[in-house]
Amino acid sequence: ATTHFGFRQVDKEQKVSMVADVFHSVADKYDVMNDLMSFGVHRAWKLFTRECSGVKVGDRVLDIAGGTGDITALMSKRVGPTGQVVLADINASMLKVGKAKLRDRGVVGNIDFVQANAEALPFPSNYFDVITIAFGLRNVTEKSNALASMLRVLKPGGRLLVLEFSKPQYGWLNKVYDTYSFKLLPKMGELVANDSESYQYLAESIRMHPDQDTLAQMMRDVGFDEVSYFNLSGGIVALHRGYKF
Ligand code: SAM
Repeated sequence: ATTHFGFRQVDKEQKVSMVADVFHSVADKYDVMNDLMSFGVHRAWKLFTRECSGVKVGDRVLDIAGGTGDITALMSKRVGPTGQVVLADINASMLKVGKAKLRDRGVVGNIDFVQANAEALPFPSNYFDVITIAFGLRNVTEKSNALASMLRVLKPGGRLLVLEFSKPQYGWLNKVYDTYSFKLLPKMGELVANDSESYQYLAESIRMHPDQDTLAQMMRDVGFDEVSYFNLSGGIVALHRGYKF
C-alpha cells in the first residue's frame, strides 16, 4: 500500500521512518526554526487553540504529537495541580527536547510524557476532556485511524482541536506563500539547521494535506459532532474543532 511523503509516492512503512528521520533531524533546532519561519506567530495560533478548547481547571488534556511542548505548557497552566496534561509523541528526540524545555521553565507537576503513535493511542476510552494535535496530523500516515483513536479516548462532551497548515484563502496570499515556502524555507533550513530537505518536506507536506472542508468532513466521517473551523492568518493555518457526544 502506498501513500505520500511530501510529493513523493512511498510505501506506508517507508513514510513512518522518513517522518521519524525528519523529526530526529530537526528536534534540536525545532523551536528556533518555528519562531523564525512563522515570525513568532505560531505562539498566537497555539494560544488561540487553548482559548477555543474551553479547557478548565481540573481537566485532563492530551497533547498528541506534542513535540517540544508549547501547547502542553499552555494547558498545564490552565488545568492546574488538580488537572493532568499528557504530552504524547511518536518521536523520542522530540520528546527529549520537550521534556528538557518544560523542566527548565518550571512547567512541571501535572505533566506526563508518553511515546505513542496517534493511530493507536495507549489510553483508556472516555478519558480526556480535551485533545489537541498541533502541526501533527499532516505527518500521520492513516489520518482517519488517528482521528478515530482520538474520538475513542475522549470523554463524552470532550473536544478535539486540530491546529494545522491549511489552504490560504486569497489568490495573492497563495502566490506569496508559494514563493516563501518553496524558495525561502529550504534556504532558511539550510542556513539555520543545516537541513534543507526537512524543510522541503515541510512545504510539500503542507500542500498535500487536506484543505479546510476536506478535513472537517474527515472528522465528521469518523464520528465527531458539531465540527467547525477557524481560518487563521488568511487560512495559512486552520483550527478545526469537533465534539464527542
Ligand atoms: N505540536 C508541536 C508544535 O506544535 O510545536 C510539534 C509539532 S511537530 C511539526 C510534529 C510532531 O508530530 C513531531 O514531534 C512528530 O514526532 C510528531 N508525529 C509525527 N507522526 C506522529 C504520529 N503518528 N503519532 C504521534 N506523533 C507524531
